[in-house]
Amino acid sequence: MKRLVVLGSGTAGTTIVNKLRPKLDPQGWEIVVVDAATEHHYQPGYLFVPFGRYDPSDIVKPIEKYLPKGVAFRRSAVESVDPGRNVVVLDGGDELGYDYLVIATGATPRPDQTPGMLGEEWRRSVFDFYTLEGATALAEKLESWEGGRLVVHITEMPIKCPVAPLEFVFLADSYFKERGMRDRVELVYVTPLDGAFTKPVAAGRLGGMLDDRQISMEPDFYIERVNNETKALVSYDEREIPFDLLVTVPLNMGAEFIARSGMGNELNFVPVDKETFVSPKWPNVFAIGDAADLPTSKAGSSAHFAVEVFTENFMQIARGEEMTHRFDGHTNCFVESGDGKAMLIDFNYDVQPLPGKYPYPVVGPMKLLEETTINHLGKMGFKWLYWNALIPGRKLPVSTRMSMAGKDTTKDTTKDIEVKV
Ligand SMILES: Cc1cc2nc3c(=O)[nH]c(=O)nc-3n(C[C@H](O)[C@H](O)[C@H](O)COP(=O)(O)OP(=O)(O)OC[C@H]3O[C@@H](n4cnc5c(N)ncnc54)[C@H](O)[C@@H]3O)c2cc1C
Repeated sequence: MKRLVVLGSGTAGTTIVNKLRPKLDPQGWEIVVVDAATEHHYQPGYLFVPFGRYDPSDIVKPIEKYLPKGVAFRRSAVESVDPGRNVVVLDGGDELGYDYLVIATGATPRPDQTPGMLGEEWRRSVFDFYTLEGATALAEKLESWEGGRLVVHITEMPIKCPVAPLEFVFLADSYFKERGMRDRVELVYVTPLDGAFTKPVAAGRLGGMLDDRQISMEPDFYIERVNNETKALVSYDEREIPFDLLVTVPLNMGAEFIARSGMGNELNFVPVDKETFVSPKWPNVFAIGDAADLPTSKAGSSAHFAVEVFTENFMQIARGEEMTHRFDGHTNCFVESGDGKAMLIDFNYDVQPLPGKYPYPVVGPMKLLEETTINHLGKMGFKWLYWNALIPGRKLPVSTRMSMAGKDTTKDTTKDIEVKV
């Protein structure tokens, strides 16, 4: 009997076990999932909670409801991994041996890593929306907020869903307009990047959308601290950005046990082969989803495409064959832009987001890099698809590899793509 241990039962971990359990012989393979939580969160839904569009109950479900029969669930935090002995040490000291290990413990916002962020203004005038608690507290704050200077801020890349802070500021513009108070709100977007996004064509489009909405942008801003007394962000080059209300995306880091186990980079993300997710140091260890140090966006969509590749490869391993499937970095993201519209971007390691149609050339029905109602309906419909098809491991009608069909390649002015997403 061989044992596959999957650490983390979020988007990647849950999808992996749902895909593998029916295929792996139950007499030959035991699958164990370890997670510190009991609830699975649909994190893209956090974006809509501050604006009263989703209730927490829409986006939180029990983890075990989504695990297939024949998979053992161990509810525990991971203390460390000893890859030399093929053992996971759980909180409390219990040891769990493995033949193969998948690290899928995601990325966590870490406000504690920026001086002053967790100061006396935390959850008074300093908020985040990358946790359910943060998004819920912000919803309450916005309900009674009377206006002023709202600063939306990214601490450092990489963050999960790098377009989410842009979506937040677009939705804020729309929300304050609906409430008849847009003229009492100054919106400022503060980013460590040199533009609205990392990839040139999309950065141009998204930057234009900020201008259209009179949202000012402060690029190249590397935060050093939050000054709680003056209510200002302070950068290393001593720029100060005052706020009445700050919505920040704190530094995103991988799990602490990865550092304790000596398996991660400086942000606790696990270096792996970008096409197969196998560790270069330990050939029976894989990292997938946000936990992996990969040069593509940390997004549920890329985790989903990566899982498709990984599970095909894992079945080859189980049959004693070579892995032949390769991940191309495929990611796509809806960018909610307010007023019932959204944009869609689709890219991979080598090709930046380009205009065109998706998933089918000519007919679409979705349009790339254009704000449309259909894209918005796609974004809103995705929640249903997530709970009912994606994490249950069903095949979705989209290609795992990025396709050039339908893309307008005349706009691909550069192949020299930034990889900080
Ligand atoms: C505000 C927001 C909006 C987003 N919008 C989009 C979007 O529109 N489209 C998109 O594609 N993606 C979006 N994402 C990103 C998407 O949610 C993540 O990329 C995706 O969930 C990654 O899946 P994962 O399995 O790698 O990690 P996760 O789904 O985060 O799962 C990690 C799991 O590991 C567990 N865990 C962590 N540490 C430990 C430990 N020490 N011991 C045991 N268990 C542990 C956690 O409890 C969790 O269950 C968004 C994210 C946020 C925050």
